[in-house]
Amino acid sequence: MTYRTIIEPFRIKTVEPIKMTTRAQRERLLEAAGYNPFLLPARDVIIDLLTDSGTGAMSAEQWAALMRGDESYAGAQSYYRFADTVREIFGFTHVLPAHQGRAAERILFSTVCKPGDVVPNNTHFDTTRANIEATGAEALDIPIPQALEPSTVHPFKGDMDVAALEALIERVGTERVPLVMLTITNNSGGGQPVSMENVKRVSAVCRAHGLPLYIDACRFAENCWFIREREAGHAEHSVAQIARELFSYADGATMSAKKDGLANIGGFLATNDDALAKQEERLLILTEGFPTYGGLAGRDLEAIAVGLREVLDHDYLRYRIVSTAYLGRHFTEIGVPIVQPPGGHAIYVDAAALLPHIPRSQFPGQALLAELYVAGGIRAVEIGSVMFGKTDEQTGEERFAPMELVRLAIPRRVYTQSHIDYVIEVMADVYARRDSIHGLNIVWQSQPLRHFTARFEPARARTHAAVRR
Ligand SMILES: *Cc1c(COP(=O)(O)O)cnc(C)c1O
Repeated sequence: MTYRTIIEPFRIKTVEPIKMTTRAQRERLLEAAGYNPFLLPARDVIIDLLTDSGTGAMSAEQWAALMRGDESYAGAQSYYRFADTVREIFGFTHVLPAHQGRAAERILFSTVCKPGDVVPNNTHFDTTRANIEATGAEALDIPIPQALEPSTVHPFKGDMDVAALEALIERVGTERVPLVMLTITNNSGGGQPVSMENVKRVSAVCRAHGLPLYIDACRFAENCWFIREREAGHAEHSVAQIARELFSYADGATMSAKKDGLANIGGFLATNDDALAKQEERLLILTEGFPTYGGLAGRDLEAIAVGLREVLDHDYLRYRIVSTAYLGRHFTEIGVPIVQPPGGHAIYVDAAALLPHIPRSQFPGQALLAELYVAGGIRAVEIGSVMFGKTDEQTGEERFAPMELVRLAIPRRVYTQSHIDYVIEVMADVYARRDSIHGLNIVWQSQPLRHFTARFEPARARTHAAVRR
């Protein structure tokens, strides 16, 4: 007999208390934080769904591995355990540790990009885009068209538009495309997976033109689980086998170990190119550290080595993907519009569709964040016009983002089902009162990345003036 209930495949050995707050306290706390949840002290948050990055719980094996950390400056055993694990799972020859994913990106792109180059991706993550643009190159997103339709259900909404890739290479020529990248899963596109078929086709185009293919591997295990579940021919393969096949079509990878590394810090850059690895190593030494630690402590390398193996466990992945889908299914049943289907690590609420009475100049996503916090102490993140929009310095006009989303990211192995049931209940309450939720005006901001520090105030009294502006 197989039972339907999928339980958390772990028990809890260490607990971290959650401080409960009242609605009145949260109203004051949010006002003091300028209605920006980034500015809230974490202790005043009940359920923290700001990000799944570095927020996961380590296992007993990872904590045990910390004690094995070899803190030798050069040639530490921890490095060899880490690098051997990465080689075994991903199959690349050179492995450079880095303190986070973005450090690996900076080293890669500052080595291969020159001004005028174009780097295509299904969708660039914001640090990837910023590191490419910092070299004077262009970061181009070419997802399949369905990726931009929140309510369209597609099993592999993270796929790259292969025809668009071919057209780009045709248009700019191979000299201006230093590499092609695929982000698995597509974080900025809703945590949606990329199919093995798409990886193969993109790889074939790259190989035909002599271009290297890199994988942004942050959530590779979640992506490979989706392949196993949804793509014909993979149901009998282990996630480790699927990963090995997927990476065999690529020439290198960057990864933030804060996601599917199940660690709180760390990342790496991997490549099969001997000459490139030498150049990258020089930059690594310049800004990160000696190549056998790359800005990490030996114990961090140990935690990542163990985490990369644990993340391949099918019981863990089944629980992970099913529990994210559980939140998405309940939001959908309430009537909350979300990006469909639910992705691997987060649920993305379409705030523009949920709060159509709030003009985009008053940030429906930010308004929903504020309401979730005041109602239930839940912290999420806006992925809309606060994050990607801009105020024109001359005219004061707002340039808006393509979508107004609110992301509820689920930390790995941290919250139980009753925490998630609480989130569902709070959202149901917010949904029932949605017509009375008001927008927010920006009262202070600083570019770039204004969403981290911007301050807001309720738009109530100034609604009409602000709309007409
Ligand atoms: C988090 C993330 C990165 C950057 O990693 P950091 O460790 O935060 O520097 C790059 N790409 C994707 C898809 C990510 O989710």
